[in-house]
Amino acid sequence: MRQKKFGQSGPQVPVIGQGTWYIDHGDRKTAVAALRRGIDLGMIHIDTAEMYGDAELVIADAITGQRDKIFLVSKVLPSNASRRGTITACERSLKRLNTDRLDCYLLHWRGSYPLAETVAAFEQLVSSGKIRSWGVSNFDADDLEEMLAVAGEGTIACNQVLYHLRERAIEHAVIPWCEAHEVAVVAYSPFGHNDFPQPRSKAGEVLQRIAEAHGASPRQVALAFLTREPYVFAIPKASTPEHAAENAAAGDLVLGDEEVAALDKVFPRGPKPRSLPML
Ligand code: NAP
Repeated sequence: MRQKKFGQSGPQVPVIGQGTWYIDHGDRKTAVAALRRGIDLGMIHIDTAEMYGDAELVIADAITGQRDKIFLVSKVLPSNASRRGTITACERSLKRLNTDRLDCYLLHWRGSYPLAETVAAFEQLVSSGKIRSWGVSNFDADDLEEMLAVAGEGTIACNQVLYHLRERAIEHAVIPWCEAHEVAVVAYSPFGHNDFPQPRSKAGEVLQRIAEAHGASPRQVALAFLTREPYVFAIPKASTPEHAAENAAAGDLVLGDEEVAALDKVFPRGPKPRSLPML
């Protein structure tokens, strides 16, 4: 699977990872099997959050005996992101995940606590070995600029943001900002959450045609399109081993310039919205 550097001083991480929002809502055994199949096929970046109910418990099962090869990410809710609250939230997540450290810990979205408080907590967690790095989520370019002023160059490992074929707002300012500062961009809801283009739509037909040319699926083409830029990763959520396997295979798919141009035409970027879209 293709890999990229995760942040200015981070490790190489596979371009396709695994989301876990709602993974605890179906059959637990199948969900654990899906995550394990994904890990076996190279999707070792696993994304979760204290907000995702029992997802952290499902992950704990899935990574038993193989923690060292996993790149584990969780998130603190903005309502908990005070200096003290961030530390406590992280400790709760570590306990639920049955591990002693996170590879990256994110502020889920911007709330009312000053960024400096959350950053101070993140730095304390790094010093005590409970997290290896930290990042943000749902930050627009101006939020990133403020965070940079608070934390300094090279400290923000990633920005996790909404990005799929029909929602390309981050291409206007967020991706360029992140590239300039070597911040990883992690595309969440890469299949539009539950709204993937229909095969019978005009755009869906283009997707299908490109997929057939590669012996791939439309979802694999979507993931290849989203991860075409040097700093972008994607974290689709799959709750069956078959879906996980299909998604992992996208990590080796590279589209040609003409294919990227054809997708760009039928899934246009659109104008820059006033505020960054999020789920
Ligand atoms: P998504 O990954 O865009 O889509 C998930 C849906 O796609 C599920 O219904 C899943 O079905 C289906 N699916 C996955 N692989 C498939 C395949 N190969 N063939 C057919 N269907 C497939 O949606 P998401 O869960 O919203 O986003 C992904 C992850 O991003 C989340 O799980 C979460 O970790 C993260 N996220 C972060 C934020 C944030 O604010 N930071 C917000 C939203 C999401 P099955 O479950 O049946 O496999």
